[in-house]
Amino acid sequence: MIFRSRFFLSWLFLNFLSFALSAQSNLPTAKIDKLILEALSDFREANFEKSLIVSRAALNHSTIAKNDYFISRSYNIIGANYNELGEIDKAIFFYKKSLAYAKKAKNDSFINMLYNNLGNIYCFEKKQYKVGIDYYKRSLQLSSEIKDSTQIYFTNVNLAWSYFDIGEFNKGYAYLNFVNNNKKFGDDDTVIVSNMLNGMYSSYKGNNDKANEYFQRAINIKDNSLERPDLSYAHLEYSKFLAKIGKHNEAYANLLAYNRITQQIYNDEKLKKASVAGLNLELDEYKRQIDKIEDEKDSQYQSLKKSRIIVVLFVITSFILLLFIITLIKNIRFKKKHNLELLKAKEIAEEASLLKTQFISTISHELRTPLYGVVGITNMLLEEHKELSTSQHLSSLKFSARYLLSLVNDLLQINKIEENKVVLETLTFNISDEVSMIKNSLSFLSQKNNNKISIRIDPEIPEYLIGDKLRLAQILMNLVSNALKFTNDGEVEIIINLSKVEGKFYFLEFQIKDNGVGIAVVDQAKIFEKFVQVGRKDEDYQGTGLGLSIVKRLLGLFNTSIILQSNIGEGTSFTFTIPFESDPVKTKQIIDEIQVDLTSDEVFKILIVEDNVINQLVTKKIIEKNNYICKVVDDGFRALQILDNEYFDLILMDINMPVMNGFETTKRIRQLGIKTPIVALTAFDKDEITDEAISSGMNDIIIKPFEPVKLFKIINYLISETKNVG
Ligand code: ADP
Repeated sequence: MIFRSRFFLSWLFLNFLSFALSAQSNLPTAKIDKLILEALSDFREANFEKSLIVSRAALNHSTIAKNDYFISRSYNIIGANYNELGEIDKAIFFYKKSLAYAKKAKNDSFINMLYNNLGNIYCFEKKQYKVGIDYYKRSLQLSSEIKDSTQIYFTNVNLAWSYFDIGEFNKGYAYLNFVNNNKKFGDDDTVIVSNMLNGMYSSYKGNNDKANEYFQRAINIKDNSLERPDLSYAHLEYSKFLAKIGKHNEAYANLLAYNRITQQIYNDEKLKKASVAGLNLELDEYKRQIDKIEDEKDSQYQSLKKSRIIVVLFVITSFILLLFIITLIKNIRFKKKHNLELLKAKEIAEEASLLKTQFISTISHELRTPLYGVVGITNMLLEEHKELSTSQHLSSLKFSARYLLSLVNDLLQINKIEENKVVLETLTFNISDEVSMIKNSLSFLSQKNNNKISIRIDPEIPEYLIGDKLRLAQILMNLVSNALKFTNDGEVEIIINLSKVEGKFYFLEFQIKDNGVGIAVVDQAKIFEKFVQVGRKDEDYQGTGLGLSIVKRLLGLFNTSIILQSNIGEGTSFTFTIPFESDPVKTKQIIDEIQVDLTSDEVFKILIVEDNVINQLVTKKIIEKNNYICKVVDDGFRALQILDNEYFDLILMDINMPVMNGFETTKRIRQLGIKTPIVALTAFDKDEITDEAISSGMNDIIIKPFEPVKLFKIINYLISETKNVG
C-alpha cells in the first residue's frame, strides 16, 4: 500500500502551488517565494538533494525575514522530501515544525494541508491509524470552517478509506455517504476510489451483487493505464472480495492485475530513487539526542532498592568520601607542620590543591574505566540475549552503573566549580527545543508518579539565543526531575518569561513549579548543601543529594541566584533569571547548520590501541556493529609495528597504558610521518588532557563511556576531513 498516499499528495501539492503563487510580491518576499517555488519544482522532479538544499536556503531567508508563513512552507518541502525518501520519522518531525509555524502565521489553508499530510503519513506510512484519523478530523473541521469544499471532499475519502482499512466499516460509512452525495469531483481517480470504497462497504454488508457491481465500475474506467496506483488498490480489494465469495480464478486474475500495476510503479520509483543514489541522510543531531534519551528511559528507575548493587554502590561512595576525608586530614596536618614559614606554606597549599585535583582525577579515572566495561558488557548482554531484556537484575545493573557514573561526574563537577575551573560557553541554541528535549527526556519519570509537565515560553523571547545551553540544561534537568520526584498525580510547570531586555541581552526568568509535597521552612536553606536530603527513606532511593548544590553553583557561574518558595503540602517553586544574548548573524549561522548530513557508506578500517582486555572487547563490538573493520593491539609498540605494514583510516588510542602511554605513542606515530587521525578514547576528564593530547598530535578526545553515535560522528568527520586535505 505504499503508493496510495501519492494520490493524495499530488493533489495536495497542486493546492500548495496555488498558495505559493498567491504570495505577496515585494522584493525580499518575492525572492524567498522564488526559492520556495524552486525547491518545490526540484521536489516534483524527484531532485530531492537539490530540493533539500534550496529549501534550507529558503528557510534561512524566511527566518531572517521572520516570515512564519514562509518558514512553514520551507519546512513543509523539507518534510515532503524526507517523506519521498522513506525517512518517515524525519518527515513527520519537519511537517510538525511546518504546522507550528503555519499556526503562528494563522494560515488556515496551509494548516489544513499539513493536517492532511500528517494524516496521510500516519495512516498510510506509519500505520498509526488513530493518530492519522485524528489529523484528518482536525482537517475536516477546519475545512468546514473555511468552507473549502475540495478539501472537505478529499478528507472524507481519506477518513472512509482509513476506517475501512482497520475494519471499522460502520464508522467509515458516514464519510463514504458524504462522498456519495457529493459527486462533483468526478475525475478518474475519484471514480475509482469511491467505487472501490462502496464495493468494500457492500462486501462487508454481505451485499455481494452490489459489491461486484461497484468493483467492476472501479476497475473498468476508460484510461486504465498502468500508472494508476488507485487502480491497483481497486484490483487488490476486488481480489479480496472475490476470494471471499469463492471465485478464486477471478480473484487470482485481479491479483495479477494488481501486481502488474504495482510492478510498473515500482520500476518508476526505482528510476526516481536512482537519482538519489549515494544520498544517505542521517537524522539530525537534535533528533538523535531525543532518540538516545528515549532509548535510555526504559532502563531508568527500575526497582533499584531490591538490588544488592546498591550496597556495593554505597560502599564505593563511602570509600570515596573516606578518601576525601583522609586527604583533607593529611593536607591539614601537612599545612600545620609548616605553618611557620609563610612562603613554604603557600607552596604546600598549592601542592595540596594539586594533589587533591590529581586525586579526584585519578579516582574518577579508576572508576570510569571499570564502569565502561560494566555499562558496555551490560548492553552487549542485553543485545545478545534478548530473553534477558525483562530481567530486573540486569536492568538494575545497567541503571546502577549509570548512576554510579553520574555520581562520579557530579562529584567531579562540584570539585571543578569549586576550583574555578568551569568557564561558561557561548553556544547558539533554540530555547523551546532545549526545553522540550528536557521534557521528553524526563517523560518516563513523569509517568512514574503520574505527573504532567507543561511548558510556557513567552512569545517575546527570540527563538535562538546565545549562551551556555549545556549548563542551563543541567540546571533545568535537576530542578524538573526533583519536582517530578517529589510530586504525585500533579503538575510540573516550566515557565519562561522575558523579564527585561538590555541591548543584545534578553533576561529570561525561569520558574519551575510543582504542586507536590513541598519543603518545610526549616529545611529550605539546608537543601542547597552537599548531600542533604530531607525526609529520606532508605527504601525509597531517589538521588544523591548533590542536585541542588550543583544548581546553586552553576547559577553562581551565571552570577545569579535562586529563589525558593514552598509550603508543605502545597508545592514548590524555584525561580532564577539568566541573561542570554540574541544575535541575528549567529542565528543565521546556526540555521545554516540545519543541513542534511551527507555521510558515506564506506567501510573504514580502525585500529584500537588498548591494554584492558574487557574494554578491547566492548570497543571492538561497537565498531564492528557499524560494519567497520577493526584490529586491536595491546600497547603502543605493537601499534607502531602494525602501522609500519598496514593502512588504517583512524586510530582509537587509550591514554593510560603500561610501558608507553597514548601520548607518547601518538608522538612517535607522528614522527614517522603517519597522518592517520588519532582519537583518544579515555576515562580521563577531558579538560585535564586536552592540552597534552593536542600537543602530542591527537585529533580529538572521547570520554568513556561514550555514546556510539558520537564516536561514529567523530570518526566520519575526521576521516572525511583527512581525505579532503589529502
Ligand atoms: P536529591 O534530589 O538527589 O535528593 P537535591 O540536592 O536535588 O538532592 O535535593 C535535596 C533535597 O531537597 C531533596 O532530597 C528533597 O528533600 C528536597 N527537594 C528538592 N526539590 C524538591 C521539590 N521540588 N519538592 C520537594 N522537595 C524537594
